[in-house]
Amino acid sequence: MDLGIRGKRALVCAGSKGLGRGCAEALAEAGVDLVLNARGAEALEATAAAIRARHGVTVQAIAADITSEAGRAEVLAAAGEVDILVTNAGGPPPGMWSDWSREDFIRALDANMLTPIALMQAQLPGMMARGWGRVINITSASVRSPIGVLGLSNSARAGLTGFVAGTARQVAARGVTINNLLPGIHDTDRATALDGGVVKAQGITMEAARAQRMATIPANRYGTPAEFGAACAFLASQHAGFIVGQNILLDGGAFNATV
Ligand code: NAP
Repeated sequence: MDLGIRGKRALVCAGSKGLGRGCAEALAEAGVDLVLNARGAEALEATAAAIRARHGVTVQAIAADITSEAGRAEVLAAAGEVDILVTNAGGPPPGMWSDWSREDFIRALDANMLTPIALMQAQLPGMMARGWGRVINITSASVRSPIGVLGLSNSARAGLTGFVAGTARQVAARGVTINNLLPGIHDTDRATALDGGVVKAQGITMEAARAQRMATIPANRYGTPAEFGAACAFLASQHAGFIVGQNILLDGGAFNATV
């Protein structure tokens, strides 16, 4: 399928690895020029070079912490106005509800709620003025079904989801869509880190921790960044203009519900 977005420009945040990289690869395959961000310059440059070589699009790599005000300003200044915005950042650490301090919550809200909101506030006016835009926020399956040890994530992402629900309906008439992609377990460094916590807590092997988790997923496997990226590219495509303010779960059927 021709996604109809060849020649558009996208800003993909936190995109040197994992789900963000999956989105960047899929957009590049559709002919989209990229501004790609992550903190670590080495992995970022390597990913940018690989995408340029594979897809022949331009990739501008900006090494910065997207959750800091200075990092965000640097990325936004380099990106200018883009047609497609993919917001993403690392997830908060796991822990226990009784241990989190006000500072822990502020850090999580900054990273996973206020950063994507600030990026949208920066890019939406230009998209609306041009009459076309796409925003895809990478959130989490924890928005639909809470994960106890990820209470910081549950809280921050619920706040972002509320903002998107209202804002998406305020900008849709101007040709701009905002949607959230909710990953369940995908095979990335983040999943490995979370499985590492289970290994430690239960005194089992990594293989056993993965098998235990796969058994909770009807598809009986982890998702891949490529599958995730394909969903992102579709939401960014010309074909997805009537999909507004949705929360799309990519979890191999793990969330058990009729609708
Ligand atoms: P990942 O494999 O750890 O990759 C994270 C990417 O984000 C890397 O490129 C990393 O590069 C970059 N990054 C992290 N913090 C950043 C920051 N402050 N500023 C700029 N770049 C940053 O993670 P992932 O699995 O793709 O997860 C992406 C998001 O989805 C996270 O918020 C995660 O919580 C959420 N999620 C993931 C899963 C899953 O199963 N994988 C499930 C539910 C939710 P640098 O470290 O060099 O900055």
